[in-house]
Amino acid sequence: MKIAFYNTKAYEEKAFKAANNNHTITFIKEHLDEATVQKAAGHDAVCCFVTDSVNASVLTALKSFNVQLVALRSAGYDHVDLSAAKMLGLAIVRVPAYSPEAIAEFALGLILSLSRKIVQGHDKIKHQDFTLEGLMGFNLSKKTVGIIGTGYIGSVFAKLLSGFECKLLAYDPYPKESCVALGVNYTSKEQLFNEADIISLHCPLNQETHYLINSGTLSLMKPNVILINTARGAIIDTSAVIEALGNQKIGALGLDVYENERTLFFEDHSRETLKDEQFIRLQAFPNVLITGHQAFFSQEAFSNIVKTTLENITAFEQGRSINQI
Ligand code: NAD
Repeated sequence: MKIAFYNTKAYEEKAFKAANNNHTITFIKEHLDEATVQKAAGHDAVCCFVTDSVNASVLTALKSFNVQLVALRSAGYDHVDLSAAKMLGLAIVRVPAYSPEAIAEFALGLILSLSRKIVQGHDKIKHQDFTLEGLMGFNLSKKTVGIIGTGYIGSVFAKLLSGFECKLLAYDPYPKESCVALGVNYTSKEQLFNEADIISLHCPLNQETHYLINSGTLSLMKPNVILINTARGAIIDTSAVIEALGNQKIGALGLDVYENERTLFFEDHSRETLKDEQFIRLQAFPNVLITGHQAFFSQEAFSNIVKTTLENITAFEQGRSINQI
């Protein structure tokens, strides 16, 4: 197939060139959106990432160029207008579960960095301040951890935390036997918010989970709660969280995703003045740790993404349907 590969980073071009035997790939640096969609003309498929716009007008344009397939290089598909794709008869494939361990381990890393103030300790050492003032943390052992969403990633996260002898609470409309066997106690969202010392989000972003963390749900949480989001930015109402950080309701916040990440993440803005006031405010809190959507970025996860994306496209070309949404 002829594939228009949008939003290409150098490491992707190298890996996809090395792994591709069957397809003709045009690597395009720009995001997919209304302004760039015409670059897909003459191709059979487009391949895109989480910061691409796969909305109804882009899909309509793709259809008019006879594009048949949109291959996502991601597990999440909240950036895709699925009903428009269905109406237009455009197939969408994705890469589910390329490495739940990559994201679960990263979420644990954010928790430990915050609970033991590892980044602050590192900063002090860099300034030749070897005192321990301000660095007292707390053990994870015996703490109550609330997990929202126990799918591929949330269930691996539960397994990791069970090794720390944490008390595990979870909310998921579809509880998992394997998690119950680990000692996970499925509760209501309200009970989880009430009792958890640490809350980690592992659900998809959809209408039900949009702004799940808001001023109302924050008011149910324990003072000094640690909140971790490696799922999708808009599960959190950022302005409510900023207020909760300001009044010390939230003890620490770890984010790998951010509501308005599309205009910031995955690009080098080091020579610019950032205009996103919310992001600037978030960054200013010493108890906030932000990474730029890198939880998926392990060697194992990335090589699975490359392999499965190409397999998805080959299967579609051969009339088989794998990983179709
Ligand atoms: P999954 O589909 O296996 O699991 C999602 C779980 O959430 C399911 O068990 C589902 O029942 C549950 N769920 C659905 N609605 C819910 C709700 N309203 N409240 C609570 N739980 C709900 O997905 P996954 O592979 O575990 O990935 C989870 C999310 O992680 C993805 O949707 C994606 O947004 C995000 N993700 C982030 C990165 C990253 O690099 N930061 C990488 C991969 C995935």
